[in-house]
Amino acid sequence: MGRHTVKFRCHSCGHCCTDVICLPSPWDVIRMVREVGESPYKFLEFIEPDDIDGVEDDDPTWLQVGEERYMMALKRGKKGCHFLDKKTKFCTIYESRPLLCRLFPFKLEESRTGEFKGFTLHNDVGCPRNRDGVVDTEPLYEIYREDSKHHKDYDALVEAFNEMDYPDKKPEDFIATFITLKKKKKTSR
Ligand code: SF4
Ligand code: SF4
Repeated sequence: MGRHTVKFRCHSCGHCCTDVICLPSPWDVIRMVREVGESPYKFLEFIEPDDIDGVEDDDPTWLQVGEERYMMALKRGKKGCHFLDKKTKFCTIYESRPLLCRLFPFKLEESRTGEFKGFTLHNDVGCPRNRDGVVDTEPLYEIYREDSKHHKDYDALVEAFNEMDYPDKKPEDFIATFITLKKKKKTSR
């Protein structure tokens, strides 16, 4: 186990829920649908390369639809994330939020041989990085490991989707490759 703590305190400035694009994994989406009960078609959007910085061209999670590429993201408006309470500035799904939201603004440090060294703070994500607190790294590492477990499966899902070719293919169709929503039963009187 690497360093046990990192100096940081979130001052709830709101930057990460208003100005940073959150990219959930399919497993985040499944968990959110189960725990929040909202349709993924309402809280996801599919953004184009010009809409996001910091994702490499060869990232394996780019969805290919014809000549265009898309990335699955949490929907956001002018005032921020779909799940942000615009008055209180708190996350309305805090317990169910994506793993990337839980890891922000921490950055994993590994040795050359891939051993966990600790966490530091990203310096290019706009967080003010206040150092007046102390955060345990062990729960962060658990979150990181949980997220990493699914990387290969996510890549494989995208690869299979990208190989599909049919008329009127849309990026939203990717949702149906990992989640099937139950139709609401009609009630009779
Ligand atoms: S940007 Fe940093 S300080 Fe601001 S809300 Fe996010 S984690 Fe907290
Ligand atoms: S899901 Fe919650 S924590 Fe994540 S960006 Fe949206 S409001 Fe912020």
